[in-house]
Amino acid sequence: MTVKTEAARGTLTYSRMRGMVAILIAFMKQRRMGLNDFIQKIANNSYACKHPEVQSILKISQPQEPELMNANPSPPPSPSQQINLGPSSNPHAKPSDFHFLKVIGKGSFGKVLLARHKAEEAFYAVKVLQKKAILKKKEEKHIMSERNVLLKNVKHPFLVGLHFSFQTADKLYFVLDYINGGELFYHLQRERCFLEPRARFYAAEIASALGYLHSLNIVYRDLKPENILLDSQGHIVLTDFGLCKENIEHNGTTSTFCGTPEYLAPEVLHKQPYDRTVDWWCLGAVLYEMLYGLPPFYSRNTAEMYDNILNKPLQLKPNITNSARHLLEGLLQKDRTKRLGAKDDFMEIKNHVFFSLINWDDLINKKITPPFNPNVVSISLSKLLRPKGHFFKVRFVGCGGGDLKK
Ligand code: ADP
Ligand code: MG
Repeated sequence: MTVKTEAARGTLTYSRMRGMVAILIAFMKQRRMGLNDFIQKIANNSYACKHPEVQSILKISQPQEPELMNANPSPPPSPSQQINLGPSSNPHAKPSDFHFLKVIGKGSFGKVLLARHKAEEAFYAVKVLQKKAILKKKEEKHIMSERNVLLKNVKHPFLVGLHFSFQTADKLYFVLDYINGGELFYHLQRERCFLEPRARFYAAEIASALGYLHSLNIVYRDLKPENILLDSQGHIVLTDFGLCKENIEHNGTTSTFCGTPEYLAPEVLHKQPYDRTVDWWCLGAVLYEMLYGLPPFYSRNTAEMYDNILNKPLQLKPNITNSARHLLEGLLQKDRTKRLGAKDDFMEIKNHVFFSLINWDDLINKKITPPFNPNVVSISLSKLLRPKGHFFKVRFVGCGGGDLKK
């Protein structure tokens, strides 16, 4: 009895703690997005942008980033420094074509900056990779695969669009659509979990993007919370798809789980060969987290979580529909040869009963109205019309979220 009470108290304390952390993170991100919105407002006004005071504020806000100083361009590459960037490469483009406004993301391989193209007056997210860092980390193969992907001309409504790329002596620049609806998991953290219809919509858009990549023989592999963004209307946009990381070692078990968890499939943890079915595991992990508010097999202790992924049977709490349960069991199947999608890839997912309410043609043509509007104005529209500010509704709902709750 005492043990039970202690355990219950422990769980409560822990979940409370997680709740508080989630609220704090959401608060900080909201402040960050508020600042983001403010900076966009300034940046949208070309007169304001040219004002020296505004420029100095933008620089002061993040002085440590050389791009934000908008100074000093690193010289163009010599022939020996040249990396083949494929057809997206624009040999005439250079960093000074852009005003770099702020850092919007830092990932494992570089940083992403919000930038305004001076001549086009358009906004982009520019991903900057250090050639040296890549070579130092012996990640030439990583870049090679990125190049291979770029050569394949990837284009899909739910994958971030690459406009062009260019390079200097020491850096690579990828000029991408700026996606400003926030990370999907930012919204998830605020609401703890999603009802099934909303989770179904996101899972379907993610699945269709993965199916498309597979049709080009690309395995995404690294589907994880921070790579899933929402556009201004609330549609999914996956970033980072170009970077197939097949030859990059995860150094040790500790480093991988210090920020947001990656959805590591058992075969990836085992360092066994993997194939496209790894992406269906990750889809299962995303869907699980959307419905339950935590990743599958979650433990605060990383080693224990890895052990759970490898050995612990999947246990699904009862508060989801049978179709969701069946889909999660199929996707989070540890043996990849038995996993849903192992035989007929995307077709098996598409035809699963959980998605029977989805019209896939409408989905891909963005004819399904997203279940949630991030309340941001798209950057092109924002030139015409700016709202007085944007508000985020905070809702707390019970987890699980079957259709009936809608
Ligand atoms: P890495 O390969 O280093 O992980 P990512 O491409 O995932 O880099 O970018 C890092 C972060 O930057 C993402 O998690 C996301 O929050 C943000 N980001 C990336 N691309 C865009 C984009 N096109 N628009 C807005 N934010 C982006
Ligand atoms: Mg990333």
